[in-house]
Amino acid sequence: MKIGIFGGTFDPVHTGHLIIAEFIREALSLNQVWFVPAPEPPHKTGLAITDFNIRAEMLELAVQSNPAFTVNRIESDLPQPSFTVHTLKRLTDTYPQNLYFLIIGGDSFAAFRQWKDPESILELCTPAVYPRPGFDYTGISPEVLKKAVMLPWPLVEISSTMIRERVRAGLSVRYLVPEPVENYILTHHLYR
Ligand code: ATP
Repeated sequence: MKIGIFGGTFDPVHTGHLIIAEFIREALSLNQVWFVPAPEPPHKTGLAITDFNIRAEMLELAVQSNPAFTVNRIESDLPQPSFTVHTLKRLTDTYPQNLYFLIIGGDSFAAFRQWKDPESILELCTPAVYPRPGFDYTGISPEVLKKAVMLPWPLVEISSTMIRERVRAGLSVRYLVPEPVENYILTHHLYR
């Protein structure tokens, strides 16, 4: 099977994440997209992040209506912080029959050289890069660019930061997050 791996903090998951996953799923004919929340994202160490189980529960709610989407909590069993290379190694050991595509936003890909063991990542998967407003790939070597899939998908200007800021300010996040996620945020008084 062709599997898209979409790692992230998802604090909270937003409609942008779902749009990205669906465009890439369709363009690359992926059988499934596995959303992999990070308990402790390496680039966000020291920052206040919502509890892992709460973020994962919101993800479950967000993907429930798409049969090709699932949440995979594999990183909760791995040493922290959760490096992508370790996650991919565990996945390829556990399910060696799959072909993996790593779904990454343009901002994360722009910093790819600083990731742990980028060479091994490129051996384990093909990066599928979704463009993000304000980011380009000038620092990325031609060898890495050759291995990645990048299509002219429409830019999406939604971020989890925007969602948290809007909730904190008492503004609506309707349509910016799926309805069950909006309800979850409100009933659990998140981001206040
Ligand atoms: P925050 O605003 O808290 O930094 P975020 O919106 O970037 O969060 P993450 O969960 O950190 O969300 O991102 C997970 C992955 O999704 C990353 O690869 C990120 O680049 C990508 N991503 C998130 N939003 C977008 C977007 N609007 N366009 C392109 N990529 C995105």
